[in-house]
Amino acid sequence: MSGPNTNYDPVEVAALDPAAIEAATTSALSAIAAAATLAELKAARVAHQGDRSPLAQANREIGALPPSAKAAAGKLVGQAKGRVAAALTERQGQLEEERDARILVEEAVDVTLPTGRRPLGRRHPLELMSERIADLFVGMGWEIAEGPEVEAEWFNFDALNFDADHPARQMQDTFYVDPPDSGLVLRTHTSPVQARALLERGVPLAIACIGRVFRTDELDATHMPAFHQVEGLCVDEGITMAHLKGTLDTLATHLFGDGITTRLRPSYFPFTEPSAEMDLRCFACRGSDPGCRACKGTGWIEWGGCGMVNRNVLTACGIDADRYTGFAFGMGIDRALQFRTGVSDMRDMIEGDVRFDAQFGMEI
Ligand SMILES: [Zn+2]
Repeated sequence: MSGPNTNYDPVEVAALDPAAIEAATTSALSAIAAAATLAELKAARVAHQGDRSPLAQANREIGALPPSAKAAAGKLVGQAKGRVAAALTERQGQLEEERDARILVEEAVDVTLPTGRRPLGRRHPLELMSERIADLFVGMGWEIAEGPEVEAEWFNFDALNFDADHPARQMQDTFYVDPPDSGLVLRTHTSPVQARALLERGVPLAIACIGRVFRTDELDATHMPAFHQVEGLCVDEGITMAHLKGTLDTLATHLFGDGITTRLRPSYFPFTEPSAEMDLRCFACRGSDPGCRACKGTGWIEWGGCGMVNRNVLTACGIDADRYTGFAFGMGIDRALQFRTGVSDMRDMIEGDVRFDAQFGMEI
């Protein structure tokens, strides 16, 4: 030696002592083996493989060794680092497998358990259909009119040209309001809104009224003591039955789709003259089944009444019946819903079973 080794450092040389390297390796391997979680393994990785770990320090010190010692030291440290790295990789894999297995157990979902989901309410299909009808008429420039459900007998009957002895006034059809001389009834149709509109708004006018009406019918599959109608009234100069037919065909198409066939069949109502029943082609058989239960083999299903406003009604409401004419109609909304849904028992519509609303209504 020609002089002192300026790189000589007792501490660094000691770190490259094979026994010290083996001790550091053993310490690392035992720490890795002892790591019970991925977090503990991460700490062991930092301690034994990180920049400040004994093996990393030893690796840095190789450069300070005499050339003759570098190869052996490099091999020694390299092998030690390799063993530690292999142990880390293996333990990492084991702990990840354990974690995944634990997640599968802890986060398992029993799909057969009852859910905590509360069923949502639904809008009633009758309400939706009423809105659909109102939308159509508003779109055609009509106004929506309303009237009271507890109605003056005069509006319900007299103004609409019902004679004093008309059978519809009798107790079997009409709910009278106590006391008997109150002059009030539960309206039997939406037609009193016609008289109210004529008196309040004058002519020309086009109004639609959607509302509930009452008759003393027993509740069964085809009758309800309270049901819904859409009433229409259009009065102007030159209004004809053709306007009526066109309006009702538009309504039928709006509700039942293209291809619906309608017909007007002569009938009688006190407040229209001439009067007609509006029939729809049977939805079930389209007129091809004489044994059809829906139409009783006639091929047609009755939907509602209509006609040209009786001049007596116009006169009773102060309208010049020589100058103005008009048409009126009253169609059953419950029946329309029945046609659309195929529900054979009308009681299903009013029993409040949310399953009915869920099937035919709309989620809120
Ligand atoms: Zn039929």
